[in-house]
Formats: sequence, C-alpha cells, structure tokens
Amino acid sequence: MDQTTGIALGSLVGGLWLFLLWLGIVIWVYRDIRDRTEDVFLRVLSVLLAVLFFPAFNLPGLLLYLLMRPRESLDEAYSRSLEQEALLREVGEGVMCYECRQPVEREFLFCPYCRTRLREPCPRCRRPLSLFWVLCPYCGAPKGAEALHYAREPSSLAEPSAQTEG
Ligand SMILES: [Zn+2]
Ligand SMILES: [Zn+2]
Repeated sequence: MDQTTGIALGSLVGGLWLFLLWLGIVIWVYRDIRDRTEDVFLRVLSVLLAVLFFPAFNLPGLLLYLLMRPRESLDEAYSRSLEQEALLREVGEGVMCYECRQPVEREFLFCPYCRTRLREPCPRCRRPLSLFWVLCPYCGAPKGAEALHYAREPSSLAEPSAQTEG
C-alpha cells in the first residue's frame, strides 16, 4: 500500500465516521424532541438544526439544540401533572391540610395544626364547604359575593320542587 492509497483510505474512513456521527446526532435529536414536545414545528426545526450543521460536524447544531430544547420530557410533565392533580384532589376532599399537609377531617373548618382556614360554613345550611366550591352541594346556596345576600334572607332562594308542583 503506497502513501496516496493510505491517505485515501484514511479520509474515506474518517468521512464515513463523520457521516455516521452526523446521522447519529440527527436521529438522537429526532427521538429526543419527539419525547419533549408535540409541536410539529418545533420538531421539524430541531431536526433541521441538526441536519443543517453537517459541514461543521454538526456539534454546534447539537449544542444549540441542547440549549433550546424543552426542559422536561412529555412523560415527566405528565407524571408531574398527575401528582399535582392527586394533591389538589386530596386537598379538595379535605384529607389533608394544604398548608402543612397534616391529615385533617373532611368536616374541619380550620387546620388544628397550623390554623389555616380549610372550609367555610354554608351561609344557609351551615355545613362545611370546600374553599374551591362555588355553591353548597347540600342546599344549592351560592358562595362568595352572592352568599351574603342569601345569608340575610334564606327564604328568597327558590326551591325547584316547589315551582314544578302547582
Ligand atoms: Zn395545616
Ligand atoms: Zn348549604
């Protein structure tokens, strides 16, 4: 093997190696962005970024992608939203205090551990209501600004059954 053949072979192997590396990075970017966003535009942009930097060995493209990609994958985002949902549901059902996370009873108006207000009594039937509810599920009296009105004159709330009978 003379020197020119050696150089030709070396550059061929080197070129092949660079090509495979480029292909690997493009495929990796594609898989990675697929797990991170459902936005088609972002996906195409990320893969293009990796493809376009071919002449410069596409490491700058990879670097740019790593800087710009969404921080968490869709799986991570999904499990985090599930956790938050479960926490909110427990707080809403009054299983635990949303301030100190101590176990509390559903009927508690205040947390006995940290004094946080957990529920408020219905302006009409006085049953404990979650702070997240907009009306009383027991008697239908609205909460909030309207609640004051009904608290003053409880009889003004029309009974649905009384209207249909007649
Ligand atoms: Zn508490
Ligand atoms: Zn009520």
